[in-house]
Amino acid sequence: MDPTGRCRLTAWCEMNPSEGDFIRLEGARVQYWQGSPDLVIDDLEQVKNLSSQPWEKIDPENHWIPVNLSELVNGGSRRGIETSGTIVSVRNDSGIIERCSECRRVLRENNCSEHGNQVGVEDLRLRFVVDNGISNASLLMSKDSAEEFLGMDMERVKGEIAKSGRIGFVTELRNRCLSREVFIRGRSIVDEQGAMILSDTTSFSDIDPKKYGNEIMEKWGLVI
Ligand SMILES: [Zn+2]
Repeated sequence: MDPTGRCRLTAWCEMNPSEGDFIRLEGARVQYWQGSPDLVIDDLEQVKNLSSQPWEKIDPENHWIPVNLSELVNGGSRRGIETSGTIVSVRNDSGIIERCSECRRVLRENNCSEHGNQVGVEDLRLRFVVDNGISNASLLMSKDSAEEFLGMDMERVKGEIAKSGRIGFVTELRNRCLSREVFIRGRSIVDEQGAMILSDTTSFSDIDPKKYGNEIMEKWGLVI
């Protein structure tokens, strides 16, 4: 981690850093792993342990770099970012999905594109689109993130879907989420298909839409 964000570092050599060490890399490589850039060293010579602190100590539990959604969408993939946007779409395939037990790909009609017919492993996933008026990105919540966001665990989600059906569940989610602003912490993957944010946590901003609307109208001198 540094003051601009965080990145994984893979060492193909014997390296034993201590927590809190400040290191400098020279002649290292950058590789892509699951859409995110990783730093790689092949030789201990590429690492220098710094004796003086180049920046203040960083708290790893609470190190999130605020990045505007447009900047995020137009930049490279990043870890440890914090951004915000308005939920403009809730995808129909949000809810309980089934994954291949071998590769975790999402099954379509009990079929994995790689491993054929499979008995699926259930998982929870939510998919949205967020927009800031200029740019938009997909927002994906895996199980932990989704459970926290929904305020219910996977078993309860399954119960809700059993009760009101998948469409009913998604409709309820739309009623709760559409047009609301959210704060997102997580990582971004930007490729030729666009930008996707994998959230660690997503929470509603506490903006009251009515109050916010009035503020905007006041700002622009609008009267209805
Ligand atoms: Zn598979």
